[in-house]
Amino acid sequence: MRIRRIELHGFKSFVDRTLLEIGDGVSCVVGPNGSGKSNVFDAVQWCVGEQSAKRLRGQQMSDVIFAGSSSRSPVGFAHVAMTFSSESGEPFPAPYSHLAELQVSRRLYRDGASEYAINDTKCRRKDVIDLFRDTGIGSSNYSFIEQGRIGEIIHAAPEQRRLLIDEAAGISKYKARREEATERLA
Ligand code: ATP
Repeated sequence: MRIRRIELHGFKSFVDRTLLEIGDGVSCVVGPNGSGKSNVFDAVQWCVGEQSAKRLRGQQMSDVIFAGSSSRSPVGFAHVAMTFSSESGEPFPAPYSHLAELQVSRRLYRDGASEYAINDTKCRRKDVIDLFRDTGIGSSNYSFIEQGRIGEIIHAAPEQRRLLIDEAAGISKYKARREEATERLA
């Protein structure tokens, strides 16, 4: 699975609709201090379900919405959409396995209303999390390694490090399903 496009609109410093096309190989975001490089990283994490405002470098979730600048007024919502391609990799999980591209998006309004969508069909956060489980994309795993995180992984407690290994081995999906089933039985 590869990220092909990232669309940002009203997210942090990206007040106007901005489309980033991602090519093959390794991509880097380069720019002067404060130009919004980390905001792109935040947008990717946010779009796939990050719930911690702190991990997005804010106090509360509404801090991801463009708050205004000397020349622009604040806006009412933040929207991020990411398009993934399955070419040259594993197919997407069912029911999307026949698709070559898949779009996941998230929108947040100032009143706190939040929406996720897969291919423009509204869905729950859980559907997005399930879609990416065991792909390495998603919150609390090894795909997002920000400043300071390497040390955190090295010094993590064995149980925490095990979560990373489970995810990399592709078994956390089955563990989550087992937990859900156990809860239902109980
Ligand atoms: P550095 O190289 O210093 O780490 P960077 O390129 O990663 O910087 P970011 O931290 O991504 O930059 O962006 C910081 C900029 O984003 C600041 O100018 C900040 O004012 C702006 N910004 C962050 N959140 C918002 C928001 N909600 N509304 C408007 N601007 C925002």
